[in-house]
Formats: sequence, C-alpha cells, structure tokens
Amino acid sequence: MKADLLLHDVRIVTMVRGRYGLIQRGAIAISGAHIAWVGELAALPNVDARKRIAGRGQLVTPGLIDCHTHLIYAGNRTAEFEERLQGATYEEIAQRGGGIMSTVLATRRASPEALAAMARPRLRALLSEGVTTVEIKTGYGLQLDAEVRMLEAMAMLAEDHPVEIFRTFLAAHAIPTEYRRRPDEYVDQIVHTMLPHIAELPPEVRPDAVDAYCEGIAFSVEQTRRIFEAAREHGFPLKVHAEQLSNLGGAALAAGLNALSADHLEYLDALDIPVMMRAGTVAVLLPCALYYLREGRRPPVDLLRRRAIPIAIATDANPGTSPCFSLLTAMNMACILLGLTPEEALAGVTLHAARALGRANRLGTIEPGKQADLVLWDVETPAELSYYLGYTPKHRVIKRGVVLS
Ligand SMILES: [Zn+2]
Repeated sequence: MKADLLLHDVRIVTMVRGRYGLIQRGAIAISGAHIAWVGELAALPNVDARKRIAGRGQLVTPGLIDCHTHLIYAGNRTAEFEERLQGATYEEIAQRGGGIMSTVLATRRASPEALAAMARPRLRALLSEGVTTVEIKTGYGLQLDAEVRMLEAMAMLAEDHPVEIFRTFLAAHAIPTEYRRRPDEYVDQIVHTMLPHIAELPPEVRPDAVDAYCEGIAFSVEQTRRIFEAAREHGFPLKVHAEQLSNLGGAALAAGLNALSADHLEYLDALDIPVMMRAGTVAVLLPCALYYLREGRRPPVDLLRRRAIPIAIATDANPGTSPCFSLLTAMNMACILLGLTPEEALAGVTLHAARALGRANRLGTIEPGKQADLVLWDVETPAELSYYLGYTPKHRVIKRGVVLS
C-alpha cells in the first residue's frame, strides 16, 4: 500500500460514534488529503510511505471543530462589560446605543480587508489549540452590503489560513435600529432581497447555511419561520439560536424544517426533543456565553442524553456575550458548568460539531475515507483536553494531510 504520510506509534482517539474508541498502539496512513488506513500497528499492512512520523505514544484526535462563532466584527464592547459588572442591564445598555448595535455600527463602517485583519488574531487563537475547522456567522451588518462584506472577509481568512471555514448567514441576528418599529419590514428585506442575492454569490463567498436568532429580543417564531422557509427554497441548510433566554419554540420550529443544529437551548424543554430526534438536529451548547451572562439556567443535558440527541460544544466567540477564543476552555466549561463528561466534550468538538455543520461524512472522526484533519497531542489521556484552564498541551496539527506545525 502506498501512502504520503504514515503516523505510527500513536494512540488514536477515533471518536467513531462519539466515543474515544482508543487504539493503544496504532498507525494512520494518509493518502493525499484523506485517511487511507487506521488501526493497530500490529495489523498495519506493508506501507510504502513518502514520509513517516513516529508519534512516540502521542495521542491523536480528529482536528477540533468550533461550530458556532461570531469572530468577525469591528468595535469594542469592554465599556459594556464594565457597566454590566456595575449592575447595568442589557436593556439599559441597549437604550444608550450600546450592545449589539454598537458592534453593528462599527462593522458597517469597516472594509472586508479591515474586518479580516481584526479577525485574524482571534482565528489564530482558536487555531493555536488544534482547531482545524471554524464556523463563522455574519450578523453584524444587518444590511445586504455589510453582510456581504462579512462573507468576503471570511473568504480572505480562508485564503491565508489552512483552516476550513464554514460560512453562516445570520442577517436575522437582531432587528436593526432603523427597523425597530417595523420588524416585519426587515424580515421582508431578508426574504425578498438578501436571501435571493446571497444565493447567487460565487461559491467562495456564498454562505453554507442560514441562521436566525429566535428570541423575545430578536425574531418571533413566525418571523423565523418566514426566513427559514425562504432560505430552504434557496437550498440553504438551517441553524438556529433558540431557547437562550426563554422558550419560544425556535428549536422545534427549526428541527421541523430539518435544521442542522439548534444552539444555546438553556430553556429547551422535553416537548421540543422528539422533533429534534427525528430530524437529527444537533444541540449546540455554548457554556462560555452562559458563563459571561451569569445565566443560572442550564440546558437539559440529561434529557438530551437520554434521547441520544448529539451534543456539540462551541465557543460562541463574540464581542458581547462570549469574548472567548478558546475551544479547550469551552470544553472545560461544558464539563464544569453543564456536567458533560470529558468524552462527551471531545465528541462535542469533533463528530457532533461536524454534524452541526453537515460535514460528518468528511470530518469529525478518524476513519478510512475521512479527511486527514488530525492533532497529535503530548498528553497521557484524552480527558486532559477538558481538564486544564489556560494551558494548551503541546501538539502538532495535520490539515488535509499536510503537517502544519
Ligand atoms: Zn451565537
């Protein structure tokens, strides 16, 4: 058998079916961008490899996937952080022109080049922890041109980084100030102008999915439904921000339309679960946002577990409610704050995160035929990846079969 790269003397955490599936003394043969063979070293067929890496017992995991971020934005929200620490509420801050609209105003003024330049160090922080795929949302433009500039900034980031970027269109992130008294007209804008336009964008900027924030402070279930039905007509997979501050039924609505994922879910209840099960909709939990907001309510992890709903974990990296650019921190918080096991947390940033992006056929596990996105960690156990706070174990990254570091 011929291979471009052979990893041997490695312990392999395959994450097949979301379990460690540990192979104690294993090997992985990579051909081009894909995994050609994986298994016990003792069973390895004769391999003619161009390059070999002896892992010396290093632990190999799939490349990590951050499946929910808002890391492209302009402006600075630290004043709001300080105000909130003094007891100001989100509503008071919004009335003073702060909150999300301050990010929107700054982002609307920025060029795609400037947005990409601001996002680069944030992306680099994620990549420095073994992240090989990142989802990024628009949603700080809230006007067609500004939303498209965010998509263009994503394309620029994809050009200078080997990371894979999944682009999500989130014009339904908030109701812009100019539409505050006539939100349905903004929904009309999204349905009749924005979606038809972005559906025709060239492949390197066309979004991979459409998302909406279904919440009392954002879009109603009915408005979200209009946006999602239009998005589906243009062939876009769906994602939703739902049940974060209250239970409106956004997760069930999205799952009923076969959404890839429903995200946040602090207020999800048992009645919402069967439709998610049927659709295979992934529950994306965002513990860093819950931490920053000092939210007391927890997503119903036990209920999700019992019904075998796949649980993904993401940073929700954003300037307002989760200025967290560390997926390992999100894994730790998923264990400490949400009660996940380290194995579930790792599944949440590998296989289940891949499912939340509709890419589980290609990403998220170590199996023959999958893309060779791998991380070789200097750790003794996979639980170490959820264990530390503010410490990244030494590691090497392989993306599409290429050794990056
Ligand atoms: Zn979000």
